[in-house]
Amino acid sequence: MAPRLIIAGGGLSGVLAAVALAAARPGLELTLLEAGPSLGGNHTWSFYGSDVAGAAARLVDPFVAHRWDGYDVRFAGLDRTFSTPYRSLTSTRLDRLARDALGARVRLEAPVAALDADGATLADGTRLDADAVIDARGATALAGVTLRWQKFLGREVRLARPHGLSRPTIMDARVPQIDGYRFVYLLPFSADTLLIEDTYYSEGRQIDAAALRARIDDYAAARGWRILETIREEKGALPLLLAQDFEAMWVDAAPAGGAVPIGLRAGLFHPVTGYSLPVAARTAAALAALDGPLTSQRLRREMARIARQHAAQSGFGRLLNRLLFLAGQPDNRHTVLARFHTLQQPLIERFYAGALTRRDRARILLGKPPVPILAALRALPERRLQPAG
Ligand SMILES: Cc1cc2nc3c(=O)[nH]c(=O)nc-3n(C[C@H](O)[C@H](O)[C@H](O)COP(=O)(O)OP(=O)(O)OC[C@H]3O[C@@H](n4cnc5c(N)ncnc54)[C@H](O)[C@@H]3O)c2cc1C
Repeated sequence: MAPRLIIAGGGLSGVLAAVALAAARPGLELTLLEAGPSLGGNHTWSFYGSDVAGAAARLVDPFVAHRWDGYDVRFAGLDRTFSTPYRSLTSTRLDRLARDALGARVRLEAPVAALDADGATLADGTRLDADAVIDARGATALAGVTLRWQKFLGREVRLARPHGLSRPTIMDARVPQIDGYRFVYLLPFSADTLLIEDTYYSEGRQIDAAALRARIDDYAAARGWRILETIREEKGALPLLLAQDFEAMWVDAAPAGGAVPIGLRAGLFHPVTGYSLPVAARTAAALAALDGPLTSQRLRREMARIARQHAAQSGFGRLLNRLLFLAGQPDNRHTVLARFHTLQQPLIERFYAGALTRRDRARILLGKPPVPILAALRALPERRLQPAG
């Protein structure tokens, strides 16, 4: 009998895993269960070209809807262009291409009520048995973590005249600093269309949508852009990790006898940006490269390895978050980010790719960190922050 795999959740990590595994194992009887009416929800997912390589890059590449050969950052007193490639996926394209590739293996509007290592029970009571079950149902309350938030509302707008931008602006922090570190993120999709996101590195995850929409209007007006229409809107609050007890998180996320978590469910996101596309692509490529029988047990071992390695690599990012959120004043956070963007481009690329060297870490911390040294020392120990139990 052909091995049977169920993936619950047709968002970013579920779709990438499904496409990679279906391509690697043509005999696999795969079912991708998604609660919503399409795959991927309503997102634009971006990443730096230097974040993914090899099989992960080849997996993601067909889904890329927009490509640029660099990006800008703008702070008071710092205007810098980087030549690192920048890429964006859209959920519309992900949905179309993944459905073409997977065909009848995708089941939309099929909410899962319960999952275990041997199958899924749908909300309508149908039981589906499988040899391997992956849980890609997205964000959940993770155990053993201390979080802050990168929250935003973005509007894709059509302007009355061309905006004149040829590449993204990843951070324009020359805006009033409200609710923590605030910046505007710009993705130029065509000469007169643009995604404008109003973004905050904040203590809380609540979003006052009306206020952020109005601030986008103000920002556009200040740039001399007249908005003709809002084509679509997206918003989110992405987790930023300050402290983590990996074992507590993993025992809760991947209990024995349960389905195998991937994506946000497995704590796989960049600690300082909350972004998860690069690690989702690397995970999908790693699962597809496994040989031997595909069982929940085999997948659980591999995911434990990936998640543990990711947590270890994220340690320095968690430290930076503690310095950012606990040592400095919220309205002064922008100076930390401004200083970071004066560092060398290859170091910044390694930072986003989760591949910093010891020397990189020293370079980021030494010099003149713009946070008070005593508060910084108090913010250093991670253990003090980890939730008990
Ligand atoms: C608006 C927004 C923009 C983002 N932009 C970026 C970015 O630019 N770059 C980046 O790297 N990261 C970005 N992120 C962060 C992160 O990459 C995304 O949150 C990513 O989608 C997480 O992937 P995931 O597969 O874990 O979860 P999701 O993509 O959220 O997928 C979960 C899927 O499971 C489905 N589901 C949930 N419950 C059930 C159920 N019971 N039964 C069946 N299906 C179910 C959901 O409908 C959803 O489709 C963004 C997040 C948001 C919200």
